[in-house]
Amino acid sequence: MSSQPRLRPAILIISDTAAADPATDKAAPILRDTFSEDGAGKWAEPIIEIVRDDILEIQRIVRSWTDTEDATSGPVNLVITTGGTGFARRDFTPEAISPLIHRHAPGIVHGMLSASFQVTPFAMMSRPVAGVRNRTIIVTLPGSPKGAKENLQAVLKLLPHACLQAAGEDSRQAHVGGVKKLEKDAGVSASSNSSTSASHDHSHHHHHHDHDHSHGGHKVPKAHTSPSERPQSNDPRLGATARARSSPYPMLSVPDAVAKILQHSPAPITETRDVSPDLIGYVIAEDVKAAEAVPAYRASIVDGYAVIVPSEEEKSNATGLKGVYPVASVSHAQAASLPPPLQVGQIARITTGAPLPEHANAVVMVEDTTIASLTDDKKEEATVEILTSELSVGENIREPGSDIKLGELVITKGTRISALGGEIGVLAAAGIQEVAVYRKPRIGVMSTGDEVTDTSYTGSLSGGMIRDSNRPSLLTLLRGWNLASEVVDLQVARDTPTNELEEKLREGYRLHDLDIIVTTGGVSMGELDLLKPTVERALGGEVHFGRVSMKPGKPTTFASVPFKESSSSASPGHGSRSTRLIFGLPGNPASALVTANLFLLPCVQRIAGLSGKGLERVIVKVSTRIRCDKSRTEYHRVTVTFDKARGGLLAKSTGMQRSSRVGSLASANALLELPLKDGFLEIGDDCDALLMGPIWGV
Ligand code: AMP
Ligand code: MG
Repeated sequence: MSSQPRLRPAILIISDTAAADPATDKAAPILRDTFSEDGAGKWAEPIIEIVRDDILEIQRIVRSWTDTEDATSGPVNLVITTGGTGFARRDFTPEAISPLIHRHAPGIVHGMLSASFQVTPFAMMSRPVAGVRNRTIIVTLPGSPKGAKENLQAVLKLLPHACLQAAGEDSRQAHVGGVKKLEKDAGVSASSNSSTSASHDHSHHHHHHDHDHSHGGHKVPKAHTSPSERPQSNDPRLGATARARSSPYPMLSVPDAVAKILQHSPAPITETRDVSPDLIGYVIAEDVKAAEAVPAYRASIVDGYAVIVPSEEEKSNATGLKGVYPVASVSHAQAASLPPPLQVGQIARITTGAPLPEHANAVVMVEDTTIASLTDDKKEEATVEILTSELSVGENIREPGSDIKLGELVITKGTRISALGGEIGVLAAAGIQEVAVYRKPRIGVMSTGDEVTDTSYTGSLSGGMIRDSNRPSLLTLLRGWNLASEVVDLQVARDTPTNELEEKLREGYRLHDLDIIVTTGGVSMGELDLLKPTVERALGGEVHFGRVSMKPGKPTTFASVPFKESSSSASPGHGSRSTRLIFGLPGNPASALVTANLFLLPCVQRIAGLSGKGLERVIVKVSTRIRCDKSRTEYHRVTVTFDKARGGLLAKSTGMQRSSRVGSLASANALLELPLKDGFLEIGDDCDALLMGPIWGV
């Protein structure tokens, strides 16, 4: 080992205080000395950086050390962090580091903790993590310089061997001479450090495909997590024998899957928006009361003449309203001014919607009048004869507030602004300029797969290329729902390199601030089905379900990913931790669209302030004979129309239903939910259908 070049360590000081003023940091010099004094000459001068307690910043720096392909320097061998491992509100280090770790090293954690316990029971208050990313070992130390030094000393002698193995040294050669020689090289013995104890039996770990097996004589430490806490997905880095041959994810029923989704969907958030056609699809978050009365003045409902109708008593001793009257003024529906007050014995010409002159108490329709005489210039009417006395007080007048009273409830909380204009209309009329609505989520759509080719590709398809139909199709569906404030096209993540999906997902959440990313493909059992491993292993997320008992759409996957908004982000609630969602829909086009309707829709509805009940359910008669499946719920694509002859809804199959056949969705407006049974639905049988769109007459 002495012939080896020196190992390259890097130290990341994680502290808001030290980041603000590097002079306050005491840990870096102490750790640098520990490497040179206790490192047996095996370590080069450490690289040192200081960073705030910010998950994304921490990850960015660590990745710059571990993910580099720089041919001259390459990745560093060891990353040591200090700070942020406690329970304080801004202690995020384990949360930042864990998702970066490809293979965990609980033995190192155990070694540090047991050393600390010899010093103080407060060791319990530290939450260290350790493991391997790519070719680099990462270890988190506590923030106190003394604690950091003690922890580093506890593991430092054993780290060179681990670093060399992680960097790719041939393990058989390293193990020539056996464990005893390794212990001697490291200057430790079995009795002095339990983490290398050869007496541990690790045979019971063999059945975990995803467990990290050390080579040769090293015994695997006992796991510190229970199987249910560990990723269930394949580790794409491991070979064929480590790959699961049946999905480890339990199969959920469709209603159970929807319940899981609603349980993990974030609660709606209220925001204020201008009243405009851009409000389509928003859900009102507070009762809205009229800011103004409608109409605001006494207005005529017809074109005609404003009159003063005599009272009942006056009527009885005269001829009533009938007669010839001078036209005293003209009132048009215009904003500028009110007409002069009307005197008894006069009438005033008035148009629909125009304000009544003072003293007028009814409007006689123009149809009930004739011109009696013209002005001298023959251009205007001078007198008009009223032909009826059958006019009551208040006739043809809209009183102020008679359409909408001031302060009246015009729209209730929970109302969705439709694209039909009624809700926007009433808000506009009642003088409402801003309303409280629930924030719509921001959603990204991404395809995955090396074979997936953008629709803009003009060459002819070769090899296994396939046109990306899912992305345009889902982008269209989402736009039509009007439930997202933005629908972002995240393009295609290729399967190779295998970290492209991770990068693109991170970019979606960070750059586009997405609440939900919808992917298609990569959720089946193939070795390039990377969605689940990427969520669980690279992003530290949780897969809530990975299989659903349905057809099409069985591998549908739903997961949440922890996300720390950077403090520079402009979005509200910045600096707080939040959860973002992933819908991993199957790659087959029919499966992708069906599962988007069944699973994504309720989630988006819930975030946007609706109850999240998904598609509207109706009962239809089937007009084709359809084979049923007795094990999985099948969603058969149909066109539902109104049957004028019989007065009900009729469903016609869109034809062959193979999940790759995107044509089964063209012209479909509903999904038949077939009963679980052997045999057929016969022509004329009733069946539940879920409406994806409106029923147009034929
Ligand atoms: P996967 O789940 O990635 O194995 O994909 C299942 C099937 O769906 C494969 O035949 C893919 O080629 C196909 N597929 C995947 N993504 C798309 C897409 N964006 N558009 C059309 N077909 C796709
Ligand atoms: Mg694929």
